[in-house]
Amino acid sequence: MKHLKAKAWCMLQINEIFGPTIQGEGKRIGNPSIFIRFGKCNMTCDGFGVEYETPSGIKKCSCDSFYAADIAFKDSWQACDDFMQIVDEVNKILPSYKTDIVITGGEPLLYWDDEQFQKLLKYYIDNGFHITIETNGSLDIDLIYNWQKKILFSMSVKLSNSGESLKKRINTQVLTHIIDFVDESYLKFVIDKDFLPKAKEEINIILKDIPPCEVYLMPLGDTAQIIDENSLAVIEMAIECGYKYSDRLHIRVWNNKRGV
Ligand code: SF4
Repeated sequence: MKHLKAKAWCMLQINEIFGPTIQGEGKRIGNPSIFIRFGKCNMTCDGFGVEYETPSGIKKCSCDSFYAADIAFKDSWQACDDFMQIVDEVNKILPSYKTDIVITGGEPLLYWDDEQFQKLLKYYIDNGFHITIETNGSLDIDLIYNWQKKILFSMSVKLSNSGESLKKRINTQVLTHIIDFVDESYLKFVIDKDFLPKAKEEINIILKDIPPCEVYLMPLGDTAQIIDENSLAVIEMAIECGYKYSDRLHIRVWNNKRGV
């Protein structure tokens, strides 16, 4: 990553800033983008089965972003108390045109109430950038300002295959609040072929309790081979249910290599 000057263990925690690359999934797939990845998550998602070892040698299981989600990696994150430090780092890799800015994690909405986080978002909106926030959609947030309507919330709501409890992963109130506030916001679900029947049932239950919005299905997998194995079944489910299919290009092309 491009390093920010660490000041203290508090405030914004940046795991990595990288790009320009393309957005690999969801509604803005294919758009040239710079990613700002925040550290820390309110979930662990050990059901996703990605095994890893923490810096102190503890073996764990989580998602493919474990290095950003698990606080055990905090020493490799950079604390930041001024959003302009992040802007400066982004400027070093920004091409001569405006890319999308993708705010991801971990769970970036853990920082929603941080003044510097809001300043960062507003800076990019005011300067004509398109911002996507990749979130699990489980945390209550206040949406107050008109400029916040320009943020695209890409909500990767977790199903039972994540291993998280229903109470923790589904917050229909916050999903409703975000969809009502930002029309373009959408849900996406990562599923594999063996989980399809259960996924259909669980997605239906979620959608009954929230306003209409676009739904994308994406194939589970952290390698191109596993994505290949799951994609046809997921496409067929999307066609059957009237959802959209999104590939996961970054995994298909780069096998989930970091920083591209
Ligand atoms: S919510 Fe997302 S980032 Fe957090 S542990 Fe689950 S999959 Fe990983």
